[in-house]
Amino acid sequence: MSNNIYDITIIGGGPIGMFAGMYAGLRNAKFQIIESLSELGGQVNALYPEKTLLDIPAYPRLTGRQLVDNLHQQLDNMDGDIKLNQTVINVEKENHLFKITTNQEITETKSIIIAVGNGAFTPRKLNADGTDEFEGDQLVYTAKNLDDFKDKNVLVAGGGDSAIDQALMLEDVAKQVYLLHRRNEFRGLEHMVDLLKKSSVKLVTPYLIKKLSVANDNQVRVHAKKMRTDDEFIDLDVDKILVNYGFISNNKDMQGWDLDLDEDHHATKVGPTLETNMHNVYAVGDQAKYDGKQTIIATGFGEVPIVINAIMNDLYPDNHAPIHSTQLS
Ligand SMILES: Cc1cc2nc3c(=O)[nH]c(=O)nc-3n(C[C@H](O)[C@H](O)[C@H](O)COP(=O)(O)OP(=O)(O)OC[C@H]3O[C@@H](n4cnc5c(N)ncnc54)[C@H](O)[C@@H]3O)c2cc1C
Repeated sequence: MSNNIYDITIIGGGPIGMFAGMYAGLRNAKFQIIESLSELGGQVNALYPEKTLLDIPAYPRLTGRQLVDNLHQQLDNMDGDIKLNQTVINVEKENHLFKITTNQEITETKSIIIAVGNGAFTPRKLNADGTDEFEGDQLVYTAKNLDDFKDKNVLVAGGGDSAIDQALMLEDVAKQVYLLHRRNEFRGLEHMVDLLKKSSVKLVTPYLIKKLSVANDNQVRVHAKKMRTDDEFIDLDVDKILVNYGFISNNKDMQGWDLDLDEDHHATKVGPTLETNMHNVYAVGDQAKYDGKQTIIATGFGEVPIVINAIMNDLYPDNHAPIHSTQLS
């Protein structure tokens, strides 16, 4: 074990963990961020770097990649340890310190911020005959690079926010975008559903993909069944399929950390300052659960200063927390 004792250990280097690192730096805290993937940026970087985000305050539009780049610029100004490719597998309290065990090392810390999102995530797969043959090339679960879709006929499958966003994102680059969903209604933000209806995206509803096979000109034939019918099918030949059926997440490691998790054992219950049931262990971002919680980036950003200042007040009560002009009157 190294002699380095951190003030704050941030578990998870998604957008909220990155911002937490930056804010810890502003308070001169000695901090580390531990991230299991090879890059920071969490879901934004891994799942939707090309998507345009419309709900980041003060940025009318920016892509996921730009958001992560901006967070990097802020974080890189600070003097913390960023540990990639390390997964935290255990957390134990020993006297007044916490022992953090990863797959590579053990470190000690005075406080912890859990910013693990929903844990490790993998896309929910398409369950249709022939899927294996096309996966990875013509059938993908994330749009990593818009150029891959340029001038192509693309079928987006799914009916949630993310499927709508991806269909609209591809509209500008693809030759034709189809959006296939098993219901006639879409579960997106009203504004985005309105944009979809006005767009050139062709809606294919209510259909479910049953089979994929090889078509002419190196295309994929999508064989889809109309819902609530026995024998009504359509065939659609496309160049690419982007499936958006959501993600399966896994935070099984956390279940041994003595945290009070919600009924699904998915997110961590927190109090008004986002402290968990353990003193000096906090949760932020998608991992923090309280009444009315919205799991979006803006909410997580807002949680960060509350947590960092609560920790620093506890660790260093003689240091003055930052006072802003609004608090002076
Ligand atoms: C397709 C899609 C579109 C979205 N669109 C929007 C949008 O338009 N606007 C918006 O505000 N939000 C959007 N969201 C939600 C947004 O991405 C999340 O709210 C945000 O990513 C939460 O950030 P986070 O840092 O809490 O968690 P995450 O982004 O999930 O990051 C958590 C990180 O922790 C790491 N980790 C997990 N377990 C461990 C461990 N044991 N040890 C070390 N590291 C670990 C993970 O590898 C991951 O990198 C979207 C989500 C998806 C899936």
